[in-house]
Amino acid sequence: MVNDTTRLLGLDGLVAERVEVDAGGVPVVDLSTGCEQARCCPKCGQRAVRVKQWTTTRPRDLPVAGRPVRLRWRKRRWYCPTPACPRKSFTEQVAQVPARSRLTMRLRQAAGAAVVDGGRTIVQSARDHDVSWPVVADAFTAHANRVLPAEPQPVAVLGIDEVRRGKPHWIWDEQAGSWTVTADRWHVGFCDLSGGQGLLAQVEGRTTAAVTGWLAARSLAWRAQVEAVAIDMCSVFKAAIRQVLPHALLVVDHFHVVRLANRAVTEVRRRVTLSQHGRRGRGSDPEWRMRNRLTRSAARMSGKHVDRLADTLQALPAKIGAPILAAWNAKEDLLDLLATARTRPDRELVHRLLHRFYTRCATSELPELHRLATTIETWWPQIHAFLTTGITNAGSEGTNRVIKTVARDAYGFRNPENQRLRTHTATTRRHRGHLNPA
Ligand SMILES: [Zn+2]
Repeated sequence: MVNDTTRLLGLDGLVAERVEVDAGGVPVVDLSTGCEQARCCPKCGQRAVRVKQWTTTRPRDLPVAGRPVRLRWRKRRWYCPTPACPRKSFTEQVAQVPARSRLTMRLRQAAGAAVVDGGRTIVQSARDHDVSWPVVADAFTAHANRVLPAEPQPVAVLGIDEVRRGKPHWIWDEQAGSWTVTADRWHVGFCDLSGGQGLLAQVEGRTTAAVTGWLAARSLAWRAQVEAVAIDMCSVFKAAIRQVLPHALLVVDHFHVVRLANRAVTEVRRRVTLSQHGRRGRGSDPEWRMRNRLTRSAARMSGKHVDRLADTLQALPAKIGAPILAAWNAKEDLLDLLATARTRPDRELVHRLLHRFYTRCATSELPELHRLATTIETWWPQIHAFLTTGITNAGSEGTNRVIKTVARDAYGFRNPENQRLRTHTATTRRHRGHLNPA
């Protein structure tokens, strides 16, 4: 009964009777049922003997040897032999072509896998497989739910970071005379920074409740295994971890600290330019021309360039040059302190460098530096944890890059649940060729 064409087609339970080529040059395969099970009532399991009628179904399938093919399956509708059975009659079905399905299961799965595992967008997969967008979206969801782990494996170092979803929306408030935000949507992601799991999950909203909600849903044993949590300087995350993972070491890495210090330098530069010239900086201002050099680390510049930077600042009018130099020095003090990370610094060295930074900020009259010092003081335990452990949240930042790429490829998502699932499949480390059970 099994002929070569049937073997080539590989649809279990269906026999290829003959292949014709239609006027358009497309092979048309006539199929018959080759499976005894198809004759049994799906409700009661009894083998039917009486045919009600013949029908023809044309399920769509994957190309064969790169050529699209049309399937034409002539099958029977049977009367169920059990008088009491609620299914009076039924049509034949096989695993690859369930009743009423207009696609073979393997086509559906391939369309879903192209998105889950191949990094394709839904639209592109729909085009490639010549099916509709909703069909691929459903296939994607089914495939993703099947291959993604239901629960994350234990994690020693957890990273938490936020990423904006879409754009914020503003409206002009007539009464207040200002712009107000009407929509600003965020996702908070949980990352495995020590193992190979990548992104574990995302939750909607940038609130303590959102973060504690996800963590509290994990088992006690899972939570107990988290040793450290890397976050950015966000009090929402800090509060959440204090509540749900009180034993974990909180770490804030140098990335956000450096950014904060650079921002302070830039703010000082802008303010003094504005107050001295009564306008914003422009190309004729030396301090404006050196704006990018000011936020570079001196340790990464040659000595010649650092000297020239200091000379240029000193040559400026004192009311412009002195504050900028003070801010730059404070920033460099902080960088020196952060550079001790991963070098097993002794306590005294760290203390001395921190003290130098605080003194520099305190003796300056610059509100920007006072604010910077206050922030560093608030977060000092977490920054100190970075100096001693060297843990960074770079894994979360890398994940965010992928999240944004996926969102751009899709031209944004309407449905946040779909977005989280897409993001999850794209960012798990088992991605690319590993999420396909077949
Ligand atoms: Zn039955």
